[in-house]
Amino acid sequence: MRGNAFEARVTSDGGAELMRLLGAEGPTGFALPDLAAAGPEGRTARTALALRQATADGVWTLLRHPLLALEVAGAPAYLEPDAVVVHPDGRWTVVEIKSFPMIDASADAAKVGAAARQAAVYVLALERIAAHTGGASVAESVLLVCPKDFSNLPTASVVDVRKQLSVTRRQLARLTRVEDIATALPAGVTFDPERPADELRAAVAAVPAAYAPGCLAACELAFHCRDRARRAGAVETLGRSVRGELGGLRTVGDVLAAARGTAGDPDDPAVAALRRAAALRAEALAALPAARTAPEELPEAAGCH
Ligand code: SF4
Repeated sequence: MRGNAFEARVTSDGGAELMRLLGAEGPTGFALPDLAAAGPEGRTARTALALRQATADGVWTLLRHPLLALEVAGAPAYLEPDAVVVHPDGRWTVVEIKSFPMIDASADAAKVGAAARQAAVYVLALERIAAHTGGASVAESVLLVCPKDFSNLPTASVVDVRKQLSVTRRQLARLTRVEDIATALPAGVTFDPERPADELRAAVAAVPAAYAPGCLAACELAFHCRDRARRAGAVETLGRSVRGELGGLRTVGDVLAAARGTAGDPDDPAVAALRRAAALRAEALAALPAARTAPEELPEAAGCH
């Protein structure tokens, strides 16, 4: 609600304040095209047309809530930035309006990072349109608009998103295509929410998952996937970094067997580290009764009971 109220405040004058933050001259010296159209396809086509027209006209143009399409794993995803500004030189800049404050010209780094990752996806979607628009280019930095200090006045900061762009490009290129995922599913499986619960449960169970604790904050299927991973004893439940450290050992059972020396290749660094850790633990446990029976060996100044 705070975000919506702040955005309404920033754009209440038809976008003049926003354009001023970008350096556009004069409060009325920019175009504000109407982007209304029916359905997402109609809105994305209208947005692309407005971007091309503005670039050809070479005038400052503000597109409020344009709709962009980006192919994700072979399926279109629709994205709605807060605004895109077309500069007279044909440059397109993404504008993100956020309600977290910018105090003394700096904001919470984690929140700025999240906004940069979000804006980078918009830049990628814009690049697809710019590639077919003569004279257009997409800025690799975005304009982040936030409340200034503890007021409701907008202030802006230019955020370089080149790093986020290369990460997102790599991630998108690595995604398995939806068609390939669908081909691997059992014939006739459906996720139609109208189907009976048992059928839906079986359908969800038929899909492989790669659970990680981070899913709990991001996915509605997290409890289902966590239960499944726990039942299978998967090391993924311990977090991605632990999973990475364990190399080819995929279950808690495999890890324990490797530590006990009943399985695993001793030349595998993960197995060797586990055996060393198990030996240290056994050594420490073996020393415990001796320490308990010889209190005189404990430091006198311990003083804690
Ligand atoms: S919880 Fe969601 S994101 Fe995580 S593995 Fe399951 S379906 Fe995938």
